[in-house]
Amino acid sequence: MDESKLNEILAVFGERLEKSSAISDVESLKVDFLGKKGHVTSLFKEMGKVAAADRPAFGEKINKVKEKVESGIKELEKNLSEKALNEKINSSYCDVTLAGKFHAAGRRHPISSVIAEIVETFGRLGFSVSEGPDIETDYINFDALNMFDWHPARDMQDSFYAGANAVLRTHTSGVQIRTMLKSEPPIKIVAPGRVYRLDEVDASHSPVFHQVEGLLVDKNTNFAAFKGIITSFCREFFGADRKVVFRPSYFPFTEPSAEVDVECINCLGRGCGVCKNSGFLEVMGAGMVHPNVLRNGNIDPEIYRGFAFGMGVERIAMLRYAVRDIRDFYVNDLRFLSQF
Ligand SMILES: [Zn+2]
Repeated sequence: MDESKLNEILAVFGERLEKSSAISDVESLKVDFLGKKGHVTSLFKEMGKVAAADRPAFGEKINKVKEKVESGIKELEKNLSEKALNEKINSSYCDVTLAGKFHAAGRRHPISSVIAEIVETFGRLGFSVSEGPDIETDYINFDALNMFDWHPARDMQDSFYAGANAVLRTHTSGVQIRTMLKSEPPIKIVAPGRVYRLDEVDASHSPVFHQVEGLLVDKNTNFAAFKGIITSFCREFFGADRKVVFRPSYFPFTEPSAEVDVECINCLGRGCGVCKNSGFLEVMGAGMVHPNVLRNGNIDPEIYRGFAFGMGVERIAMLRYAVRDIRDFYVNDLRFLSQF
């Protein structure tokens, strides 16, 4: 046993190291040199043949060889994994200056955004949102609102019945009754929602449409406060210098009642096809809450007064965006919807 054997092993190891280019080579180097039957391991087995006095020095030399082999393999392993990582990075090279893939972003439907805007505008005037069921009892949808079964106004709204005493609500006014029954005045709510009527489909009618209705009940409210709030809503929504007109009208659930008209946003009052040359657009029905309706909501009309208003969302959206056909809102044509 002499040193030439050690040098020989190191030389062989050096050659093998030189030729190694894959991770699998690392494994075979480990097995061939440091494994149970490896070249370096077998050197330790030959210690017995060395004279006892020379053993420590020889052992030290073998250890040096072992260290060289171990650090050689470690170095190789490190180089190879770095090389593999670089190859991976280069093969998946990404040019961040290239144009990206285009994904169309969705947006709110014009009806939803008009509802949100109406609710937000009344929110700034102190109104909160209240909701009710789409299927309503006959009593709440009609009777409680002063529309008894003999009432002629009921004919115009007679609708889809879902049973003897259940109707798809013809307006969101039922929410007023529900709110009055469960809360104490002062009440200040807006009720947005879907409503159903037996209407033939045409450019301005649909059997399903949306309303936003509002109710204010308090001790000291009056017609002047009602006009003030409705006028400030109309000006905020349609334009700050729009004229707002209250025309006497009739609704079973309000007394006195009014139709609210706003100066035409298309012709600014001069007269055009949109406003049928009147210069004004009808935007909502409103009035002071009828005492019977307050009583049906468990509110004493001798102490409290209120006013209510309701508007068709599709109508408002059509006026605002100059849409000529209500059906455009429902057919889901992206060429139409992407304009909003
Ligand atoms: Zn006009």
